[in-house]
Amino acid sequence: MIEVERPTDRLVRLRFHVEDRVDHWPGQHYVLRLRAPDGYTAQRSYSIASDPHDPLLELMIECLPDGEVSGFMHDVAEVGDVFELRGPIGGWFTWTGEQPAICVVGGSGVVPVVSMARYAHRLGLSSMLRIVAVGRTYDDLPYAAELEKYGAFLALTRENLGDRVAHPPYPDEVLPLAEDVERAYVCGSVGFASFATRLLGEVGVRADTIRVEQFGATS
Ligand SMILES: Cc1cc2nc3c(=O)[nH]c(=O)nc-3n(C[C@H](O)[C@H](O)[C@H](O)COP(=O)(O)OP(=O)(O)OC[C@H]3O[C@@H](n4cnc5c(N)ncnc54)[C@H](O)[C@@H]3O)c2cc1C
Repeated sequence: MIEVERPTDRLVRLRFHVEDRVDHWPGQHYVLRLRAPDGYTAQRSYSIASDPHDPLLELMIECLPDGEVSGFMHDVAEVGDVFELRGPIGGWFTWTGEQPAICVVGGSGVVPVVSMARYAHRLGLSSMLRIVAVGRTYDDLPYAAELEKYGAFLALTRENLGDRVAHPPYPDEVLPLAEDVERAYVCGSVGFASFATRLLGEVGVRADTIRVEQFGATS
């Protein structure tokens, strides 16, 4: 591990040099495995935040109360530590820049879309990727400032943002972003995913174009 940053007391941003790394598509994830001296292992999936051209692999992990792997990475992991990583994994939740898409993502569910947004920005395709990012507060939402820079619409549920009063995204806020999209991505907790899928249906996005990734309990 080359860099560790703790942007808030619940988030840790980690950057790794990966030996024999295979190129990834935005939206894919890695499996991170912790191994104790007695051989006990624990492994969890983490989405890739970095652009495919980034020489390092970036992950953003939300520290959950009593979370085995997220807690270790937040509280204990240090620069110079060596980890077992397997990936990139997943071909379903990927965006290669070929079709206009909308992403409705919540909390740490923004992470795979950060990779998509960085990729789109580098290739001049940002207008093809419309992003609705939902968080409780600005500080709670990973990459809020960077997503705003790429033109994402931020909906905060427990804090006003400018003139916008705290609330989940309304259909009339999402409708203009959903125009002419051929693909939709939803990522977040199980509850968030069902909310976002319903919202996309309300603004006319066809169910068969929606790809969902849920960050359930232990995966
Ligand atoms: C494809 C994929 C990509 C993922 N990408 C990311 C990512 O980029 N960043 C990230 O932070 N996480 C991501 N996750 C979730 C991650 O894999 C772990 O589930 C999460 O870090 C919890 O693991 P843990 O060992 O810390 O908690 P555990 O020890 O497994 O669980 C601790 C406690 O938290 C509860 N819990 C577990 N997960 C959640 C949750 N998501 N929400 C609420 N409560 C929960 C458990 O029920 C338990 O009570 C992803 C999951 C998948 C399947």
